[in-house]
Amino acid sequence: PVVVRSAADLGDAPGNRLDGLVIPGGESTTMSTLLVAFEMLAPLRELIGAGLPAYGSCAGMIMLADRVEGAQEGQAFLGGIDMTVRRNAFGRQIDSHEEDLRVEGIAGGPLRAVFIRAPWVEEVGSDVEILATTRAGRAAGASGSDGGRIVAVRQGTLLATSFHPEVGGDHRVHDVFVSMVTRRA
Ligand code: GLN
Repeated sequence: PVVVRSAADLGDAPGNRLDGLVIPGGESTTMSTLLVAFEMLAPLRELIGAGLPAYGSCAGMIMLADRVEGAQEGQAFLGGIDMTVRRNAFGRQIDSHEEDLRVEGIAGGPLRAVFIRAPWVEEVGSDVEILATTRAGRAAGASGSDGGRIVAVRQGTLLATSFHPEVGGDHRVHDVFVSMVTRRA
């Protein structure tokens, strides 16, 4: 992996070419501000639109959403996945939780999912595969087929999860992303 910090890291210089992009968790309003300040919004939108595989977890999921509920005024997103994501959907930081999830396409038993002031997906377009739903937040009107909230999705070369697989030491979600990248390369 290489760290992408500025638009120069996205250029065509030898050794610069990205095969895939991971947008980590964090805080999506800060990410928006920095993407604008470092002039990375337009080039990243272009790369993602051209089929660069990208995986977003938590705030990264928010960045990949075409529609966001609870966005800060003027907040910019990369978009790409035909979904509506609700920021801070499970509640405040104190409502963060862990849960064992069954994720479509991931064998070997449930995945320990860590949700940290996480978003959930309110609705998806017809091209979006729903990979996991959570029991937490199950409620009337929830859009997962089992009444749970949608927390993992894939559309073409884009993957997103509400939770943080990187903090659990279980690499199976990253394996899915790596195979999406290698399939395309
Ligand atoms: N609540 C954060 C946001 O809205 C996301 C939290 C996270 O990435 N763990 O951007």
